[in-house]
Amino acid sequence: MSVFTHPEFDDHEQVAFCHDRACGLKAIIAIHSSRLGPALGGLRMYPYANDDDALRDVLRLSRGMTYKSALAELPLGGGKAVIIGDPHAERSDALMHAMGDFVDSLGGRYITAPDSGTGVAEMQAIAQRTRHVAGALPREALDGGTRSGDPSPSTAYGVFIGLREAVRHRLGRGDLTGVRVAIQGVGHVGYSLAQQLREAGAQLWVSDVHDASVQRAVAELDANAVRPQDIYGLDVDVFAPCAMGAILNRDSLEALRAPVIAGAANNQLATADIAEALRARGCLYAPDYAINAGGIIDVCYERIGGSAAQVRSHVERIGPTLREIFQRADAEGCTTTAVADRLARERLG
Ligand code: NAD
Repeated sequence: MSVFTHPEFDDHEQVAFCHDRACGLKAIIAIHSSRLGPALGGLRMYPYANDDDALRDVLRLSRGMTYKSALAELPLGGGKAVIIGDPHAERSDALMHAMGDFVDSLGGRYITAPDSGTGVAEMQAIAQRTRHVAGALPREALDGGTRSGDPSPSTAYGVFIGLREAVRHRLGRGDLTGVRVAIQGVGHVGYSLAQQLREAGAQLWVSDVHDASVQRAVAELDANAVRPQDIYGLDVDVFAPCAMGAILNRDSLEALRAPVIAGAANNQLATADIAEALRARGCLYAPDYAINAGGIIDVCYERIGGSAAQVRSHVERIGPTLREIFQRADAEGCTTTAVADRLARERLG
């Protein structure tokens, strides 16, 4: 396993490995950049098949956090941590305490937060060993109870703002009344997005592998239920991926008909060339890390202090950022992802 010559190595500032024999912790922290501030990014726990898969993930994800925070104009750098292990079978307080010690050993250059396989309970265990942790507060603790410790509502609000901007740009429609939206995954973010879209007058089609989530959206939001495999081929205005990554690939592209793609999922493009394929067919893609930044904005304000109104107004800046990306992509004849990357690098200075 190489680090400096790894294909995902991108001049990362620091990559630290930790093995705690007593509790079995095997973890990696990658700090991609601390140029704009301490590197904040989630702690993912996943049963990686081998060390190399874990390294690839942490290198790639930490770089993504640098770009996401820079584009969202946050005083944060980009970092990420991974624990090699099955969260259902191996998660324990002892493991999280050892992880807390590992985070603390970096002296605040990296701040951890929840990600797939970890949540508020794990952050609270980590907080017993380090103060460099976000997302450890109980829901009612923030802003006199008006804000929750769960960043999903902020993520959903940002996606709603960004989706509206994309519809305005691509379809020339100033409001969402009657706009047809297909949402893949109605979990924390997808459901909240569906609620906001419904309030704005959009028509909804939803899919989820968890049937009860679909039925809830049908009953409460008058959504149309769709089988998971049928979500791509619908004749709708917007496809909103809010489940898992890599769903924009050669197979889904064949089926996709929506002229706008705007959703919360991370790493939606299976490969970089898909962005160009979407552009070539006139499909406007809202780059995932630009449109789903509401959560990191929320977590940032939890750290630096700020009211719900301040969080909301910062999340709303996702709209003008996307407008600039869309306009520059049109003017320069290139993909929205290329422009987003460039804009992030400009903001990184
Ligand atoms: P979640 O687990 O609450 O919801 C995901 C939903 O997708 C679940 O209901 C799940 O059953 C469903 N799903 C899984 N596979 C599916 C499939 N093949 N077809 C249809 N539905 C499927 O997760 P979440 O917090 O809502 O996050 C959704 C996405 O947004 C993830 O990709 C996440 O990385 C990304 N994201 C979330 C946040 C946040 O604040 N929660 C922030 C940034 C990005």
